[in-house]
Amino acid sequence: MIQDIFPSRLELTFRNLVPALEDCFFSFQNGNVLLRICEDGSRELPTFRDLQKPIEKIRDLTVFLFCVDDIPIYLLQLNDIVASEWQCLRYFPVEYLNHILPEWVYFAGITALHLGHWYERNVYCGKCGDKMERNRNQRELICHSCGNIVYPHIAPVVMVAVINEDRLLMTKYADRSLSQWVLISGFVEIGETLEEAAKREVFEEAGIHIKDLKYFGSQPWGFSNSVIVGYIARLDGSDEVHLDKRELAVAEWHPRSNLPKELTDISIAYEMIEALRIHEKGGLE
Ligand SMILES: [Zn+2]
Repeated sequence: MIQDIFPSRLELTFRNLVPALEDCFFSFQNGNVLLRICEDGSRELPTFRDLQKPIEKIRDLTVFLFCVDDIPIYLLQLNDIVASEWQCLRYFPVEYLNHILPEWVYFAGITALHLGHWYERNVYCGKCGDKMERNRNQRELICHSCGNIVYPHIAPVVMVAVINEDRLLMTKYADRSLSQWVLISGFVEIGETLEEAAKREVFEEAGIHIKDLKYFGSQPWGFSNSVIVGYIARLDGSDEVHLDKRELAVAEWHPRSNLPKELTDISIAYEMIEALRIHEKGGLE
């Protein structure tokens, strides 16, 4: 999964650090990430030195994100500056981070993206409209006019693998060009337990009931500012699917001995599908 970066480690404890020229940073614009183009054509995370500006002029635009193996990583908030100012820096789609070394960069990047969304969407107080200020000692934003304090927002998502003996329910989204088979998932409502959310989503999207929910695992997923909680559940009652066509293009029972493969191994969906795959005796899988 994307967060499996062992032996490296993302350390999220907030630290009141001041960036130096040799420190790396993430900077985003419209879902794209700023990367340095090296002489051999490869890309890597930029350092503040690449901006070719005195560090004192940049510090106000930076915020500490986290450490990776004790190395501090920052967010650079560039609202008005375009990348064309720098010869060696260009914006690339965030998914491009999957090709950047070291291997922790992709997970660090989507985590930075999630934190970046939070900072970007909380410049002003949602209660009184005054400017929010960063607490120097912890990851929180404060409005000194009305006392409003805002903490990072994480939207929980449940993902459910519904099994019926040797079959697994798999779906395709209605509104995405990617025609990949996925598992049922959805955001948790306020006032709902994770298990209630799982049951509701499966019933809303596929019209079936589930029982015997078992926690599988979880995954931070910065693309949607969420954490995904995976459950494996058994069908309860009829296996006849009634599709919610606003959400799904198709939902079908697949034999667990012949499940479609996910395109990449970064998601918890991949882990869940592979955990439920029944391997034929003597097969290659
Ligand atoms: Zn306020």
